Amino acid sequence: MDVSRPRQIVIAGAGIAGLTAAIAFARRGFAVRVFEQAPELAEAGAGIQLSPNATRLLDRLGVTEYFLPAAVRPERIALHDARRQRRIAEVPLGEAAEKRWGAPYLVVHRADLQSALKARAARDPDIEIATGARVSDAALHARGVTVSVDRGGAISESMPLLLVGADGVWSSVRAIGSGHHSERFTGEVAWRATLRRDSRAGAALAEIMPADQVSVFLDPRFHLVAYPVRGGSALNLVAIAKGSWNPLAKGPADPAPLEAAMRGVRGPLGTIVKDAGPWTFWPIHEVPAGLAWTARQGAALIGDAAHAMPPYGAQGAAMAIEDAVTLAELVAARPGDLTGALEAYEAARRPRVEQVAKRGRFNKWMWNAGGFVRLGRNMVLARRKPEQLAADLDWIYGFDAMTADAR
Ligand SMILES: Cc1cc2nc3c(=O)[nH]c(=O)nc-3n(C[C@H](O)[C@H](O)[C@H](O)COP(=O)(O)OP(=O)(O)OC[C@H]3O[C@@H](n4cnc5c(N)ncnc54)[C@H](O)[C@@H]3O)c2cc1C
Repeated sequence: MDVSRPRQIVIAGAGIAGLTAAIAFARRGFAVRVFEQAPELAEAGAGIQLSPNATRLLDRLGVTEYFLPAAVRPERIALHDARRQRRIAEVPLGEAAEKRWGAPYLVVHRADLQSALKARAARDPDIEIATGARVSDAALHARGVTVSVDRGGAISESMPLLLVGADGVWSSVRAIGSGHHSERFTGEVAWRATLRRDSRAGAALAEIMPADQVSVFLDPRFHLVAYPVRGGSALNLVAIAKGSWNPLAKGPADPAPLEAAMRGVRGPLGTIVKDAGPWTFWPIHEVPAGLAWTARQGAALIGDAAHAMPPYGAQGAAMAIEDAVTLAELVAARPGDLTGALEAYEAARRPRVEQVAKRGRFNKWMWNAGGFVRLGRNMVLARRKPEQLAADLDWIYGFDAMTADAR
């Protein structure tokens, strides 16, 4: 590649992937421009679990200090059979996670994480973030990549060293090479709500969902995850069930399909759909494996733009953070050899992401098991010691994307 091209990186999208990449590239001496189509940086109200493979990177990038006061360090992940309301297994977190995986397992409100990334990026004079600015086109040619940005109808062009497509599951950067978008609706929908701990419903749920843990309720027709956010003052609820999606539908989410999936569940969990809310609706899409993530002229996809996956392993954002750091480290380590850096990026990230996605598919199969498989699952999980279940996760949570081995 042309080594005389400026060390400028253009990033499409200021979500978790884009802002992490901006910080990681600026840290290595690149000038970064982030374009975000939304008029302002605002994250919809819901929580996110940040496993140690993500928190170790956020800490090194100087992001953690900004969200730590609002984050909660849960003591365990507890798996329950939703119909029997019985705990079937648990994975120790808290101090044990930090000791085992070298970084904490944290849960946080997305708005708090977004604000932290924004505050950390603002500290760096080499990062410029423009909102209301959509990356509308990109042309790959022999000399590199030309990026067009649309700001309310005014189009500007630039020729960076690298265009990073961090523009999410509906990525338009992904469509540059193939001309089509290729994401696919999985037939499942995520309903999300936040509940105040001191509300009547919050107090009722405390019996079955202690405040210091990530609680997962399994059922053949749905699964529901609950964990504390906002320093423990609120409970984040995410439920996933089959559903349909009409891209043209407007207005508030109707949780009736979730209510139907949870019919027959007893106690406060059975009335949670009515007691909590308003519920937001997120149609779960995935990006099929096998699409190219890089173009040697100077473009790379990271995060959901490259590999959106159903959230059965709570690893989508963690993968986005790992991608961002790996890409920045590789491009910085190979000055004058962008093609080699992009090839190395794809070679390093693809097997890892595919393995994590496979684990997510396994979780889905196990979590939604019915009949004898469900009984077998409960028996097998009940027999496994918490430490054994933790050891099964070493390859995910113990991973360090900044080490040479990871590249
Ligand atoms: C229900 C649910 C629960 C989840 N829970 C977890 C969890 O606990 N832990 C975890 O690690 N992951 C979780 N995930 C996955 C995680 O949310 C995503 O993987 C992650 O947010 C992806 O971040 P991103 O930055 O790649 O994409 P996005 O967050 O989608 O950001 C893309 C950004 O690009 C902007 N954009 C789009 N097109 C353009 C353009 N052309 N020009 C400029 N800007 C553009 C968008 O406006 C947006 O701001 C969950 C997902 C779901 C659905």
